[in-house]
Amino acid sequence: MFEHIQAAPADPILGLNDAYKNDTNPNKINLGVGVYKDEQGNTPILKAVKQAEERLLAKEKTKSYLSIEGAPAYRSAVQTLLFGKDHNIITKQLAQTAQTPGGTGALRVAAEFIKKHLPEATMWVSNPTWANHQSVFQSVGLEVGSYAYYDADAKSLDFEAMLASLSQVPEGDVVLFHGCCHNPTGIDPTPEQWYQLAKLCSKQGFLPLFDFAYQGFGQGLQEDAQGLRTFLEHVPEMLIASSFSKNFGLYNERVGALTILCETAEQAENAFTQVKRCIRTNYSNPPSHGSAVVAEVLNDDELYALWESEVKGMRTRIHEMRSLFVNTLRAKGVSQDFSFISKQQGMFSFSGLTPDQVAQLRKEYGIYIVGSGRISVAGLTHDNMEPLCSAIAEI
Ligand code: PLP
Repeated sequence: MFEHIQAAPADPILGLNDAYKNDTNPNKINLGVGVYKDEQGNTPILKAVKQAEERLLAKEKTKSYLSIEGAPAYRSAVQTLLFGKDHNIITKQLAQTAQTPGGTGALRVAAEFIKKHLPEATMWVSNPTWANHQSVFQSVGLEVGSYAYYDADAKSLDFEAMLASLSQVPEGDVVLFHGCCHNPTGIDPTPEQWYQLAKLCSKQGFLPLFDFAYQGFGQGLQEDAQGLRTFLEHVPEMLIASSFSKNFGLYNERVGALTILCETAEQAENAFTQVKRCIRTNYSNPPSHGSAVVAEVLNDDELYALWESEVKGMRTRIHEMRSLFVNTLRAKGVSQDFSFISKQQGMFSFSGLTPDQVAQLRKEYGIYIVGSGRISVAGLTHDNMEPLCSAIAEI
């Protein structure tokens, strides 16, 4: 029965990772997948995570199922991080949060929820966007359209075009925004632009879906929530898919959350029962370990302070690598201006390298970059900077 099945194309990002692993070149460099690396090229376990795990090991008493929506201590900690402590959304119980397997799990549950309860809605994603967005939404049968975002010539946000596109989105459709550290461009709206987007959203009546996968990697944990929090002042309903893969380094524990914000507590409770139905028929209930670690850290002042300083450490290292990358390219005699890279934020940079150049870098130098030219800046180190920039200068 399976003989007619054709092989699926490799995933554009994870497939690249597999190719990197199979490459025998001793000098190979992986700038594809969005995983943080330290100066030694390792993806470390955060100290706050290790300490939380030690505590959990001592006090954990059962491996019984969590409830469909996940652990209460985790769910409330997620809301505090998203909205800010004691926000009236929390005190009035206008939002409900479900613990999900990673940010991708949250997006998938959101997609199913939208398909079931807003069946006529089209999903709108930025052009460009994270490679998996389109597939996740299409996999449940949603129509996906794109709105203008990036000005490839100016290497900046084309805000006028973005506003013009979104002004065409009708009431009842859903628009996905990257909460911060836009993937793949590294370019976010300014506070003033977030304000204009929130006003437009309220005027048009479309539903915002915030994908918030990099809180803390841009300017800071609170600063990065500014776009989301601006929307809260103007828009009564929202979906938020958040993730702790990056800012806790908990990639393989699959820790995320889907939060639904409604106009009243009663509406939120009703809608949440339907979110739970989507989960029950999908993975039934979430895995426990990663979320228990996150809750232990977020709900403890000492561990929180340690975690915040570790997030700052990752953020600062990436910022430094951006500047070093630009300066090293200049020192190698590359005439093209790459200074825009130091202005972008988060893990990624849209380098402007063409698909041909990306292919050449891979073939001749064992340097792995996504075909769009997106570089995972978090993979740059003092050690790989010289060979990387020499190779780019060569091609
Ligand atoms: N959303 C964006 C924009 C991402 O870049 C990623 C991961 O790369 C995710 C969601 C999914 O994160 P997770 O690994 O938690 O599923």
